[in-house]
Amino acid sequence: MTPIRVRFAPSPTGVLHLGGARTALFNYLLARHEGGRFLLRIEDTDKERSTDESTRAIIDDLTWLGMSWDEEPVFQSKRIERHRAALDRLVSDRRVYKCYCTPEEREEARKRAEAEKRTYLYDGRCDGLPDRPGAPFVWRFRMPKEGETVVDDLVQGQVVTPNAEIEDLVIARSDGSPLYNFVVVVDDADMGITHVIRGKDHLTNTPKQIQIYRALGLPEPRFGHLPLILGLSKRLRSAGISSYKEQGYLPEAVNNYIARLGWSHGDEEVFTHDDLVAKFRIEDVNRSEGALNLEKMEWLNQQHLQMSPPEKLASLVAPFLSAAGVAVDSAHPRLAPACETRRQKARSLVELATEIRFYFVPDEAIAIASDVAAKHLAGEAKARLLGLAGALEAVGTWETAAVEAATNRFCEAKGLKLKEIAQSARVAFTGSATGPGLFETMIVLGKRSTLARLKRAAGSSAP
Ligand code: GLU
Repeated sequence: MTPIRVRFAPSPTGVLHLGGARTALFNYLLARHEGGRFLLRIEDTDKERSTDESTRAIIDDLTWLGMSWDEEPVFQSKRIERHRAALDRLVSDRRVYKCYCTPEEREEARKRAEAEKRTYLYDGRCDGLPDRPGAPFVWRFRMPKEGETVVDDLVQGQVVTPNAEIEDLVIARSDGSPLYNFVVVVDDADMGITHVIRGKDHLTNTPKQIQIYRALGLPEPRFGHLPLILGLSKRLRSAGISSYKEQGYLPEAVNNYIARLGWSHGDEEVFTHDDLVAKFRIEDVNRSEGALNLEKMEWLNQQHLQMSPPEKLASLVAPFLSAAGVAVDSAHPRLAPACETRRQKARSLVELATEIRFYFVPDEAIAIASDVAAKHLAGEAKARLLGLAGALEAVGTWETAAVEAATNRFCEAKGLKLKEIAQSARVAFTGSATGPGLFETMIVLGKRSTLARLKRAAGSSAP
């Protein structure tokens, strides 16, 4: 069997959104699962709309998602010679003809069809006309008029289109520049693509492309058209993958989420990269449309944050801490332990950064809001914090067991329950009444900061 070769073929006219990323992912997973090759082709022939910036952003986003391609990316704009040669072949084989209809004439015919409630199909009126030297024309591909074209789709099943419903397609503009349905065939064939996996919005193009394969005598690939994604609003379409990165999503979580938009494996929800590679089969992609649910994406992000080793989280969260105003080197010895105290809770790296920020601000910068102080630092609370600081001062090696024992001894001596002191101590450490467990907080803070924050809260101007 020939090894599988698939491609992702974005047009660099905008960002890579969730839908495009899913198409890329399914191609990538199919290649990895089958031990085949995943290729990238930048479809940049539309000079007016394509930008280098978009190409770069797409490449960055795919790289961030971890979808590595196996050969040098192909730029469609560099393949004009190949497209011309294929067109020449169709011309000499008389598979195409010159169409002299003006855009106005076509528009008029379209309007007429609309008024008569018919689907507009070009009627082939220029086929067989004598040459009109000097007159502008486009090349039309002559479709068969009888029979039907069958797409044996890996996702959609058999899709049959009567050939009478496929119009003679314009495959090259008057300046000779070839158009999508034609170049895609030439490129896919040259790249040896065996499986074309793309969005269902392309399904109506496929019978046309199949006829072009046949006219050029090229082997046809298999096709698989992915269900549309519901709820991919204009706003979400303009939100590139990089915006999820900025919001603190892990690439694993984004991949997990988009994989489940149309694909399932039993009732499993959480998949690592390797799980996806091991379990993905194009046959398991559903025909039914997947609906976007960003809450689920957030939940998956939380699952993947929980599965990530603290050292990895440390390096991922460092830039978010900087953005939150505290510059912490990713190798900071307290960063991984700090992540460890909070990673069960955080739903994003932004949240994680917000929640562990307090560890890294200077002790004197812990701000305690007056209502928090009124609630947690009133009455006996301050004196207790000072007492606790005294008890902890005696701890030699700053380890959980020793810190816990010293705190418990202090509580016993004062006839207090731990919880009677825990909240006010937490306020002293973090500035807020919520936060990680008391002892783990103290360990990560270290002795000096623990004592400094307790003393500072004890002496703070609470009511
Ligand atoms: N450039 C096309 C698109 O972005 C690719 C279509 C295809 O995969 O054939 O929709």
